Amino acid sequence: MPARRHRGLLLLAALLPFAALSCAGDYYFPPIEPEKAWSYDEVVEACGLEVDTYGLLPFDAHGDLQEPVTEECMETVGSAFGFSWASFDEVAHEFDVARTPLERVMEGFLMVLGWNGAMVADVLDGGGPVALTQLLSEYEDAYHLKSTIDAGELWFALLYDSIQKVYYYPDLDAKMSYVSNKGLVYIGDVTDEVKEPALGNAWDKEIIASGLIHEASHAIYGGHVQCGDNPDNKTCDEDKEGAFGSQVWWYYNWLTFNAELLDEWFCISVRDNMYLSCFHINDHGDYLPCDEEQLWWTICPDVYLTRSSSISPRTGIMKAVPEVHS
Ligand SMILES: [Zn+2]
Repeated sequence: MPARRHRGLLLLAALLPFAALSCAGDYYFPPIEPEKAWSYDEVVEACGLEVDTYGLLPFDAHGDLQEPVTEECMETVGSAFGFSWASFDEVAHEFDVARTPLERVMEGFLMVLGWNGAMVADVLDGGGPVALTQLLSEYEDAYHLKSTIDAGELWFALLYDSIQKVYYYPDLDAKMSYVSNKGLVYIGDVTDEVKEPALGNAWDKEIIASGLIHEASHAIYGGHVQCGDNPDNKTCDEDKEGAFGSQVWWYYNWLTFNAELLDEWFCISVRDNMYLSCFHINDHGDYLPCDEEQLWWTICPDVYLTRSSSISPRTGIMKAVPEVHS
């Protein structure tokens, strides 16, 4: 019988080509043993994420960084979440356009930790996965979060509690993987633009951001099950109670409360990538984020395109969706 700590690595070895995100879950939260305990406020201050006149920090309407990410910001986030700088073969530094794996991972963290638009109450009361909501409610109490503040601190609490180490492993056959009993997130080759084209471009910042939520949620839900339409594919969840349902819940809250701030193609890119995650939920029933009408005609309000013409130039993927997992 393999040691418990090896379970995640065994699952890593069993990844299928379509595994966008994989994971091992043991219903276990690792003890937090940081060199220094970081608060959300410290991260926000180090990264200039205080909300001012224009929400959506740190991005603009096109999804570009409004200001360069500073070395101090990178050092702070890297320390809070245990970045293995050596594995990235990079050190903390300033950048204004994310290109390297480390920079792209940083962007993903900042997308979760920055402006969410949704308030704590929206995330907790809107019909998200039950077990996720229960855990987030505990964070709300533990951190004394007001229901009317931006949900960024709520998601910070989830990531901070579940991720102790971020390790770059470009040979990974997935974008990310999680070893829950070590609180360890492996980052795959997030600069590979063609590895999994049907699941979106690896470099889309929302994929990395939502992927962090996905991996953290494995600490609640454990691993995946067979996909209903393809038993050979074991990267699905039965229903919204799972890592994909949690990932989609982050997407949905971020997108619905920010859609009007986004340009057409950034909105479509986020919507497309959210939709792709829904196809990993065998029975999403009436789960609102996976409601096709809601997605196609409501979420990006100024986009009135037919399905066939709504292929995003950012991702170019939507035509592949129905064939993959319908
Ligand atoms: Zn997973």
